[in-house]
Amino acid sequence: MPDTIYYNSNGNNIAFDSLPPDVKQLVHQVQADDSSTQNNDSPVGFLMVLLGIYLFAYLLIKLSKFIDGDREEAFSIFKQNGNSSIPAPDDVPATDTAPAGEPEDKDYYIYDGNNLGLSEADITNILVKYYPFYNSLWPTVQYRFQQRLFNFIKSKRFIIYSKQPYKEMPVLTSAAAIHLTLGMDEFMLPWFKNISIHPEAYFADDSLRVLAGNVEGETVTIAWDQLLKGINNQTDGSNVGLHEMAHALYYQQAIADNNKEINFSSHFEKVMQEGEEVYKLKDNQKILYSDYAYRNLQEFWAESVEIFFEKPDEMKKCYPQIYDTIKELLQQDPVNKGNPLC
Ligand SMILES: [Zn+2]
Repeated sequence: MPDTIYYNSNGNNIAFDSLPPDVKQLVHQVQADDSSTQNNDSPVGFLMVLLGIYLFAYLLIKLSKFIDGDREEAFSIFKQNGNSSIPAPDDVPATDTAPAGEPEDKDYYIYDGNNLGLSEADITNILVKYYPFYNSLWPTVQYRFQQRLFNFIKSKRFIIYSKQPYKEMPVLTSAAAIHLTLGMDEFMLPWFKNISIHPEAYFADDSLRVLAGNVEGETVTIAWDQLLKGINNQTDGSNVGLHEMAHALYYQQAIADNNKEINFSSHFEKVMQEGEEVYKLKDNQKILYSDYAYRNLQEFWAESVEIFFEKPDEMKKCYPQIYDTIKELLQQDPVNKGNPLC
């Protein structure tokens, strides 16, 4: 799963569905301008094109409302007026003059993980409903997953860039971290104080790249729709939650903790060495990995983690050494579905 979704003027390599609505609109606008330019010799043709654009835009708006409505039903929203068990967000942006407690006027919300207003039962119910990996675990391993998740959530701050902050957002983004580190002793990723969530793919701060997720400073950022896509299909080798948490884990262990854990550093180095071997064959052999994995070794690592969890049998067959090294590093064997702990 590439965490950067590029788009270019030729229209190549565009993950159009993943673009934010304003970019999609821009693309439609450009296409509409092109069509009208090509037809400007004929007024009737021009009117037909305008009518077409109007109908298309109308359908698009209707469709987006339908999708939003659908999502509202599926997920539970934080803001529910009159329900005192759901806290108001603990932060009001400096420029926002709306009084606290009326979050519907804001574009983003910041929640302290310690004060989400979600009980352990609420969190477990979300896992049961939306996280298939959790459901496949034995009860004893599920207990470990839950306990770790509760502690992890409490230690983070969640920044949700949406007018509709869903309760599932902090739970399912955090679940990706717990999934990744379930076998390890250190799982809190303490360097990363913030988990930031955008409803859809978003622009990078420094460029016109469109991102499905990224790790920067003390923040892991993930696009919610991309996260759900990854969770809903657990066998396609693509999972942006695991991908970003793999980048975060590397940063935590190798940079922030300065390779304190020998197990991580020695095995990570081995994955990189094996990655270099796979790199050399990249023009002739692209089994399981996407082109994006060959951008650099960090991306190779993150994509290896996705494949390790989502296509363990294939990875074991095609790259037995990489599989075994990641298994040692993460202390997990996803081939054993009920109890992947080594
Ligand atoms: Zn990446």
